[in-house]
Amino acid sequence: ITQIWDSLTDEFSNLEVITEPSQVAKLSLDYFHFSPILEAQLKDKRALLVVRPTTEAEVIQVAKTCVKYQVPLTIRGAGTGNYGQCIPLEGGVVLDTTKMNQIRWIKPGTACVEPGVKMASFDKKAREIGWELRMAPSTYRTATIGGFIGGGSVGMGSINYGQLRDRGNLNALRVITLEDDPQVIELRGDDVQKVNHAYGTNGIITELEIPLAPAYPWAELIVIFDDFLTAAKFGQALSDSDGIVKKMVSIHAWPIPSYFTALQHYLPSGKSCALLMICEYDLEAFSDLVHEYKGEITYNKTATEASKGTSILEFTWNHTTLHARSVDSNLTYLQTFYFSLERVEQMYHYFADEVMIHLEFLKFGGKPIPAGLQLVRFTTEERLKEIIRYHEEHGAGIANPHTYIMEDGGRKVIDPIQLAFKQKVDPNGLMNPGKMRAWLKR
Ligand code: FAD
Repeated sequence: ITQIWDSLTDEFSNLEVITEPSQVAKLSLDYFHFSPILEAQLKDKRALLVVRPTTEAEVIQVAKTCVKYQVPLTIRGAGTGNYGQCIPLEGGVVLDTTKMNQIRWIKPGTACVEPGVKMASFDKKAREIGWELRMAPSTYRTATIGGFIGGGSVGMGSINYGQLRDRGNLNALRVITLEDDPQVIELRGDDVQKVNHAYGTNGIITELEIPLAPAYPWAELIVIFDDFLTAAKFGQALSDSDGIVKKMVSIHAWPIPSYFTALQHYLPSGKSCALLMICEYDLEAFSDLVHEYKGEITYNKTATEASKGTSILEFTWNHTTLHARSVDSNLTYLQTFYFSLERVEQMYHYFADEVMIHLEFLKFGGKPIPAGLQLVRFTTEERLKEIIRYHEEHGAGIANPHTYIMEDGGRKVIDPIQLAFKQKVDPNGLMNPGKMRAWLKR
């Protein structure tokens, strides 16, 4: 190891290299600790060193060096993934993309960026010409665009545009291979799926072309309800209301609102709530819908006000889990496609307090459906598996957040196209080893 370490630091002498152990430890980990299962499996994993290239030419240099010394290479954006996506299971080099943060161009409807561009800072620029990202995770302020493509899947905006994997949500990619002589490959249209959500196992993305959405002034609102099932029905009705333009529909069963410490003033005890982003021009129609479902608006910020403080976004998606775990670290979570409100209702009654329901509505195959990031009171791994099994046996789809293996999470099946692409671009299996089941099973 010392010999390899010396060779690598020598080869990277013109690059920013991080070797200080506490920094390397920090840059080797992500938010895997939301899962007690992953916590035990991954907490001790460390890279040998971290390298921060600033240009594509430097990325090629890193790729070539890793092949030369047969050292594993794991790519890291902001390191906010939840399944250890960027944790180097076999050590080696972590390639940190955060210094590759140039926006190449933004035009109406589309933009071209380097992978390390942060999503919120991109949107600030895009809004200057009336456009914004189609979808973004609740880690929007810190997450990189490359990291979202590599390891993310949905977020605010998914109520309009569905999932990242849906055709049209990613236009083109430029990737570097890990061959003896690294190549640059451009992928457009359906070909982007070769690398989309591949956890950085088959090529280093150095440039992305992404589609944009028209930017509306998004008001942020909280609506409270006496009971959860009415809140859930309201969420479905709002999602189905094509005349009300929205960006986020997030529903929380009591006692989840009690975990949102900073919002307590707007969240009375015992009430379930909806956290929403609605186009300012549609607030009159929105109020009528709230009235129909006997909700009460307790928080209403204009888009301008909302852009100044902490966005309501940072209480939704997996930020809900973050806030809940800061109060009770025994809590963990699941990711579920309920597909229908009937299934939500059944699970709500069946699991009672053990599984607290948090819904995010998103478009699936063109239709708005309830998806869940339920909070689970963790007891044992066996019980967690039983809970997952019960959901699956009753028609819900679980994207398991308690595994670092790509296919065992959301996809379930091996993707022959991604495997074939890996065989071509990473013939030595150096990229993020251990994460792609298809490669392990070959
Ligand atoms: P990283 O975690 O650094 O990387 C993610 C994966 O992408 C890794 O496998 C990495 O190897 C790969 N990768 C990174 N850059 C490249 C590249 N240039 N080329 C090839 N592969 C690359 N996710 C959602 O989808 N929706 C949410 O709403 C959401 N909410 C979250 C809330 C919290 C509190 C937390 C902790 C996480 C949440 N996540 C969510 C997960 C995560 O924040 C997002 O997916 C985020 O977009 C990841 O970006 P990142 O820059 O942190 O990527």
